[in-house]
Amino acid sequence: MSGVKFLDLQAQYQSIKSEIDEAVLKVLASSQYVLGPEVEAFEKEFADAHDVAEGVALNSGTSALHVALLAGGIGPGDEVITVPMTFTATAAAVAYTGAVPVFVDVDPDDFTMDPALVEAKITPRTRAIMPVHIYGQPADLDPLIAIAENHGLLLIEDAAQAHLAEYRGRKVGGIGHMAGFSFYPGKNLGAYGEGGLATTNDPELARKMRLLRDWGQDRKYHHKMLAYNYRMDAIQGAVLRVKLRHLKGWTEARRRIAALYRERLANLGVRPAQEAEGRRHVSHVFSIFHPARDELQDFLATRGIQSGKHYPVPLHLQEAYAQLGHREGDFPVSEAIAREQLSLPIYPEMTDSDVDLVCEAVAEFVHEACVE
Ligand SMILES: *Cc1c(COP(=O)(O)O)cnc(C)c1O
Repeated sequence: MSGVKFLDLQAQYQSIKSEIDEAVLKVLASSQYVLGPEVEAFEKEFADAHDVAEGVALNSGTSALHVALLAGGIGPGDEVITVPMTFTATAAAVAYTGAVPVFVDVDPDDFTMDPALVEAKITPRTRAIMPVHIYGQPADLDPLIAIAENHGLLLIEDAAQAHLAEYRGRKVGGIGHMAGFSFYPGKNLGAYGEGGLATTNDPELARKMRLLRDWGQDRKYHHKMLAYNYRMDAIQGAVLRVKLRHLKGWTEARRRIAALYRERLANLGVRPAQEAEGRRHVSHVFSIFHPARDELQDFLATRGIQSGKHYPVPLHLQEAYAQLGHREGDFPVSEAIAREQLSLPIYPEMTDSDVDLVCEAVAEFVHEACVE
């Protein structure tokens, strides 16, 4: 059946199968299954690719954010400013430390933390600002850095969706004090299982994060602090090393598809997401916006085109965060995104004729909606 998948992890595996199989078999034969040389090499290669000094490999992106917050000394009684238009892990990582996530709304054009709204949320308990490079576009970091410096706060980047993204010519990951990346399979750099990594230019923060991920041990069975089992598997390290070598090309392919979408959807009234000035968007998600979003999604499905919603319920309206006491209307930009955003298929192996199929179907929906 003709149609377009939302993403195609099989196509990617087939394109690198021999390299992956060899790397995985090497780990199986090594009997070093957790951390070890493959993971260490990956940490260095990933950090180098992001122009940052230290990479700490972890078992998920959520763990990366959690150890970054803990290494920053954040805990009960503290507040961390973040956004409600993100995946739940961002705020959950804050809550795991005992600190309170304090939301500010996002900018209606770039969908990242609106710097103009941050200062009003700073209290004597605020310890950190955690912007999210949502959909693969860096947050507007310069004004956030200025606010963090003025108030003595940590800046922790949620870079889970933004591998190799750039802000004013600098790679994300080394711009704030720390950053967390995810290698969940569907991310731009995906493991074959769970994975994550925290970055920093500060060797002391890196040392703390390494202790936190491995039972607080600097020597076996000597535990310096209460810590976690957040270590990366060697197989994931080996897979990620192979995939990292392809990431630049894959990112360029994503950007090319995003540019094609923008061109072909320009005059249909579906408001394709734009790349903000001074930012290199890595197009993890390609968004369009339409008041009849749900109907558009159903229509695309009838044409065999898969799509997604990122995210249909902003965090301040999730039951999990009910204790924060928010209600509808508190963050209107995030709520509008939740109502109208639709993620179109995007992955490096997608062809131009796939893009055509999607755009033709969107055009068909829009024209039918006009006629009615
Ligand atoms: C995926 C994601 C995370 C969490 O990463 P996991 O590897 O799934 O734990 C955190 N923040 C954002 C914005 C994400 O998209």
